Amino acid sequence: MESDPDLAVEPVPAFDDNYLWLIAHGSQAAVVDPGDAEPVLHRLRQRDLTLAAILVTHHHGDHVGGVESLVHATGARVYGPRDEPIPSRDVALAGGERIEVLGVEFDVLAVPGHTRGHIAYHAPSMRWLFCGDTLFAAGCGRLFEGTAAQMSESLARLARLPDDTRVYCAHEYTLSNLRFALAVEPDSAVLRARQQACSALRARGVPTLPSTIGEERATNPFLRCDVPAVKSSAEAREGHPLSSSTDVFAVLRQWKNSF
Ligand SMILES: [Zn+2]
Repeated sequence: MESDPDLAVEPVPAFDDNYLWLIAHGSQAAVVDPGDAEPVLHRLRQRDLTLAAILVTHHHGDHVGGVESLVHATGARVYGPRDEPIPSRDVALAGGERIEVLGVEFDVLAVPGHTRGHIAYHAPSMRWLFCGDTLFAAGCGRLFEGTAAQMSESLARLARLPDDTRVYCAHEYTLSNLRFALAVEPDSAVLRARQQACSALRARGVPTLPSTIGEERATNPFLRCDVPAVKSSAEAREGHPLSSSTDVFAVLRQWKNSF
């Protein structure tokens, strides 16, 4: 299935830095986190696609703002977290389910932290991960509703997916995240190389996404709380030793908030 030429994922840019990910299979489509309906409707018309499904990761406005208009225009089926207010939701998900969308099987993962009911959609056969505002390229979402312990467990869960899993994050935050990552690990050659590669992409207006789990494990400080260089940076920032990787995560998240 991974080589099915009719199956593709493409970014639909929206607002300042959101990507609404469109999955196309033949003449059918699904969209992840449509914060705005208009760019999605435009792309559907342009590509002559019928919208069959809407996958929602969490309740924030820039992820659900276009859902009702899209349902009104297309009748698409809406999947979303059970414990959050999701407009026009047909299928309520809590994590642990397996759903089929456009002939592709997705495992639903509970990844609380950014919001309490946040879920991610993982398609093992395609090596796709749609993770909303949980994991970003070289960064992670803010803790609006959950705890540092919840978020670090959610990220650890995503980090255990295969290295070649493509990570479709919801925002183009990569360059600012990489600046922070380099403050945490200034001696990392692989981080410098990633910054150069991503800067070149942005200079041409090209998305830096999808990332991969392997890249994130190598460069994302929030997935590297056990790495000695990351731990000692967090300890230097905090001024005392940190006993657990959750404590390291909490310091990094706080540090990034004011970076
Ligand atoms: Zn959000």
